[in-house]
Amino acid sequence: MSAPVLPLWIAGQRRPSASGRSGEVHDPATGQVIRRAPFASAEEVGMAVAAAQAALPGWRATPPIRRARVLMRFRELVEARRGELARLVSEEHGKTLPDAEGSVQRGLEVVEFATGIPHLLKGEWAESVGRGIDCHSVRQPVGVCAGITPFNFPAMVPMWMFPVAIACGNTFVLKPSEKVPSTSLRLAELLQEAGLPDGVLNVVPGDRVAVEAILEHPGVSAVSFVGSTPIARHVYETAARNGKRVQALGGAKNHAVVLPDADLEVAADALIGAGYGSAGERCMAISAVVAVGSIGDALVARLAEKARALRVGPGSQAGVEMGPVVTAAHREKIRGHIAAGVAEGAKLVLDGRALAIPGEGFFLGPTLFDQVTPEMSIYREEILGPGLVVLRAATLAEAIALVNRNPYGNGTAIFTRSGAAAQRFEQEIEVGMVGVNVAIPVPVAFFSFGGWKQSLFGDLHVHGPEGVAFYTRGKVVTSRWPATDEESRASLVMPTHG
Ligand code: NAD
Repeated sequence: MSAPVLPLWIAGQRRPSASGRSGEVHDPATGQVIRRAPFASAEEVGMAVAAAQAALPGWRATPPIRRARVLMRFRELVEARRGELARLVSEEHGKTLPDAEGSVQRGLEVVEFATGIPHLLKGEWAESVGRGIDCHSVRQPVGVCAGITPFNFPAMVPMWMFPVAIACGNTFVLKPSEKVPSTSLRLAELLQEAGLPDGVLNVVPGDRVAVEAILEHPGVSAVSFVGSTPIARHVYETAARNGKRVQALGGAKNHAVVLPDADLEVAADALIGAGYGSAGERCMAISAVVAVGSIGDALVARLAEKARALRVGPGSQAGVEMGPVVTAAHREKIRGHIAAGVAEGAKLVLDGRALAIPGEGFFLGPTLFDQVTPEMSIYREEILGPGLVVLRAATLAEAIALVNRNPYGNGTAIFTRSGAAAQRFEQEIEVGMVGVNVAIPVPVAFFSFGGWKQSLFGDLHVHGPEGVAFYTRGKVVTSRWPATDEESRASLVMPTHG
């Protein structure tokens, strides 16, 4: 029996796609095709944008507190269905259920942030900037916004975007990853149940055809993208050329610097979670460990011991610590990276290719390389899989220089007991999100999330205050109200003071 093709979600309705194109969605734990993602055509993207344009005047005119109340109800619905959503995430992505639930929770926190929108949209007021003249600023929605999201966080990354965008009074077209389309469609249904007017959020699963249609559509005012660096750069350049505002978050190669004074056990545990959690398919995963000075050998030994003990299996199974990777093709790519690392002379401490799990699932065991140098491809390229590479540095200064030479700048962490070392690291490191004894320093929703250098094209980060800035345009009003009666007019013309 062939797998069912999912619908599009346009103007509050499920609609079958007429594009005639679709892609396989796998359960990575079994390797089976469980459903198909429609590949929306340019015309279908146009229909979604038209629905968003039609909904815009009414939604924009809805008072922010009422928009916030829809999000409050949505928050309760997502909370109540957290398990169902986590199962959907795990089923299409492969990550473990606790991990999937955690990612839904992080998305929920952005919804909670967005419910504060009446406060967040408040402008500033200055009285008497000139005689009889006041000045105030407001923030207004930008119009129809679009979000293009990656496979690795099917709930969280879309929820970085649309709650803030619609809270600000915009309408939205979401193009989720074709590998994990179901969660976005489910979230759209829940928003409708929460009272969101039809057309305010539309979902068009698709591939590059849908992306190009969004980037070219004159009705789209702003584009948020999260994905790999080459596509982020393309989205940034194309959207900007077409006059849209754009924030495009790209790939990563996150380093953890471990100083000799670090608590070895704490650091090793944190690195195992950050390197192999979610099978290393997180943009904030640690993939390069920089061992400073004398700690290197002991650290590698602890990492190997702990990585070897990780329980790998289906993400839905209790007790499993690491699930499969997302597709067979992605597993092949990672295997290729491991082979290249061996060929380039890195020391393979633990080989994930050796793991054998019966069945057709896309499993790969934890891999650990030591004695890696910056020239090697396993260091230079983003692997986005369950692998850690360890480099050695003689001093903190050398470690900082190494991290700063890397073209990516998403997240980084330092493990140390020294406040002075942590402070120096924090000041000198050229990375957008920094952890001190925290391996995955994802900012909470009330701050903004984003990297530097090749990890972000554009300037505003997502959610938090910068998310509000991205989804609104500032306007400054300078006003004078001429007096209506002679006496007060005279008081303006002939002031008694000054
Ligand atoms: P990807 O770049 O392959 O896909 C991202 C989106 O772009 C998807 O919706 C996809 O359909 C679309 N796309 C893919 N190829 C395209 C093309 N040629 N033209 C136009 N659109 C295209 O990324 P992915 O594999 O889904 O996700 C993993 C990547 O995302 C990693 O590089 C990871 O680091 C990055 N990521 C970054 C962050 C961050 O915050 N910086 C967060 C999550 C993921």
